[in-house]
Amino acid sequence: MKLVLVGKIFDGEKIIDKGTIIVEDDKITKVLEGIEKVDNAKIIEGDFIMPGLVDAHMHFFGVEEDNVMAWNLVNEIDVAIRSTRDMEVLLRSGFTAVRDLGSKVAVRLDKLQRRGEIIGPTVISSGFSLAITGGNDDPKELPIDFAQRISYSFYCDSPYECRKAVRMAIRQGATVIKVYASGAFSQGGIILPGFTLDELKAIVDESHRAGLKVASHAYGREAIMTSILAGVDTIEHGLGLDEETAQMIKERGICYIPTLATYQIPFESVNPEAKVYREEMIKRHFTDDMRIAMEHKLKIATGTDYVGSKKRPHGQNYIEAVILSRYMSNLEVLKASTSVASECIGLRSRGYVREGYKADLIVVKGNPLSNVEDLSPSHILYVVKDGKVFKGYGLYKELD
Ligand SMILES: [Zn+2]
Repeated sequence: MKLVLVGKIFDGEKIIDKGTIIVEDDKITKVLEGIEKVDNAKIIEGDFIMPGLVDAHMHFFGVEEDNVMAWNLVNEIDVAIRSTRDMEVLLRSGFTAVRDLGSKVAVRLDKLQRRGEIIGPTVISSGFSLAITGGNDDPKELPIDFAQRISYSFYCDSPYECRKAVRMAIRQGATVIKVYASGAFSQGGIILPGFTLDELKAIVDESHRAGLKVASHAYGREAIMTSILAGVDTIEHGLGLDEETAQMIKERGICYIPTLATYQIPFESVNPEAKVYREEMIKRHFTDDMRIAMEHKLKIATGTDYVGSKKRPHGQNYIEAVILSRYMSNLEVLKASTSVASECIGLRSRGYVREGYKADLIVVKGNPLSNVEDLSPSHILYVVKDGKVFKGYGLYKELD
């Protein structure tokens, strides 16, 4: 039976004031202006219909706390159970696609979701991320062989080891490669270095040979520059953007994923200097970095860096869209959350309401064009993924 959605439509690009979407099996087969009467169909009438939301940078860590030791030491069965729950929570919050950039479970979640064994968004997953030995996410208090064994990263040093690490990630089932071009904020109040240019070039070359995009965690101008020169596809976080790097990002069509939501979380540090340094960088990220990104018209996509912890819980990922609305029009925010994010993470035939595209749709109560807060979970009345209704099931009229 056909599924028909009627209402105001945002199609990933523009608004159709009153339109009809016809879904057959897993695809959108027609998008029409005006109300079309369709026989033998289930009808959903809504205030506002749009493509499902996308979180282009998140992690299925399945942890309660937010620290490197917890992320590494967490019991793997707990991670699997909590992440299966998070998959469902994300879908019911309107997210029909997410990209996990480093975790122990995401490639498996992706496989099981595609087989229909669990429910959740489409998952693009890096499998393990790639990082230098002794880098940011390496729990250095532990012996190295043990740290490597429990890590969600492959540690590699030198272009040759890094090529091997890319192949290891692909062997796991990775559909994107994640690299650390820098560390994050260290306790000492500086940004630790990540891969060198020759290591990054080897990673990008090996990934692109396999048809995979490369997502680069980059804190600070140097890491952003090295990532650009190496040819990565998306800059993650991107703190310390300047005119020159923004220009290069624009010219090369790289996506910029500022993950603002994660920096709103209160941060505890035992080192007051580190805290001051961190706060300065973040203040700049919310002001200069975003101003420069907007002035250069960079492709900006929603990504939260939420991990499923208490402070960064899955289900609240719409927060990134709300923060982005400080810098761009609500129409631009909706694009960043759907079509642009889908393109940035390489999703084909999703992210738009278009004929022939997969039917990943949400029906929103209210109008996110007037108020982006309407993307919060309580306003998501229906979620349709691959043509199936996962939220709001049974609420539609059946016409015979
Ligand atoms: Zn991340």
